[in-house]
Amino acid sequence: ARQEGDGGYLFFSAEMNRRAKEHLRMESELRRGLAQGQLLLHYQPKASLRSGRIVGAEALLRWRHPLHGMVPPGQFIPLAEETGLILDIGAWVLEEACRQIAHWQERGLKVPPIAINLSSRQFDHHLPMRVQAVLDQYGLGPERIRLEITETLLVRGPEQVIPIMNELAAMGVGLALDDFGTGYSSLAYLKKFPISTLKIDRTFVVGLPGEQNDCAIARAIVTMAQQLRQEIVAEGVETAEQMAFLRGLGCDQLQGYLFSPPVAADAFAQMVIEDKRL
Ligand code: C2E
Ligand code: CA
Ligand code: CA
Ligand code: CA
Repeated sequence: ARQEGDGGYLFFSAEMNRRAKEHLRMESELRRGLAQGQLLLHYQPKASLRSGRIVGAEALLRWRHPLHGMVPPGQFIPLAEETGLILDIGAWVLEEACRQIAHWQERGLKVPPIAINLSSRQFDHHLPMRVQAVLDQYGLGPERIRLEITETLLVRGPEQVIPIMNELAAMGVGLALDDFGTGYSSLAYLKKFPISTLKIDRTFVVGLPGEQNDCAIARAIVTMAQQLRQEIVAEGVETAEQMAFLRGLGCDQLQGYLFSPPVAADAFAQMVIEDKRL
């Protein structure tokens, strides 16, 4: 905490100034990166706990920075969210994923549905029309993609978001609620949303099967999802013990390093061709 009379305030404002400059510099680098094709998508497969086969994948954003190498999204998405640049980036991600899916289909590859992450800021009443336009542009059916949304969206209130969700669902685009359990969603809301998939956040998977509390939470989420007829995906599964526990609960799908980390598009296509199994 800053103290009067010892130059603390000066230091504090100099520090803020430095951070503000750093933010500005990074924002303009990111904007340039987007324009110059430095962004790319990796794909992480999701495997069915019943068949062991690949039944989906999540597209995850990467920034290949000319100096810093591969930058993970945690290091630039928060800034992009703050500045609004996430709108342009999000539009790029949607289009790039659809372009890639269409490319795979042209080569005769049977790719599973690809999930695309959406920022809450992208979730406005233009979104359904935008998604439809990109699907049309690449000749894709709505079942080729899924959209992953997070609970932060729900703080805006159901009357704001439900009509948009309903529109997407009516188009045939499945919605997944990401990072489930970490945010604000009230269970009462949950049944009002046209959500087809719940993703159990990694923070609850980490402690399975040793931590009593994590086991209780995972069990409660799976039970509830089953009652709401939602598909359930566990994130961040790293061990065979975690997998066994989740399978025992009746969880549908698993995503995590145990099966595969996120990989480049070609490597993902190779896994699909080889029909890699759990
Ligand atoms: P998320 O949507 O929860 O994505 C899952 C994250 O968990 C990914 O991190 C993935 O690499 C990581 N992960 C997967 N399996 C494991 C595992 O077994 N162990 C561990 N420790 N981690 C695992 P990543 O790729 O760094 O992405 C971080 C976050 O950035 C994502 O979290 C998502 O919120 C955001 N993000 C990524 N791509 C996009 C995008 O295109 N648009 C938006 N708006 N956000 C994105
Ligand atoms: Ca996600
Ligand atoms: Ca997630
Ligand atoms: Ca997560």
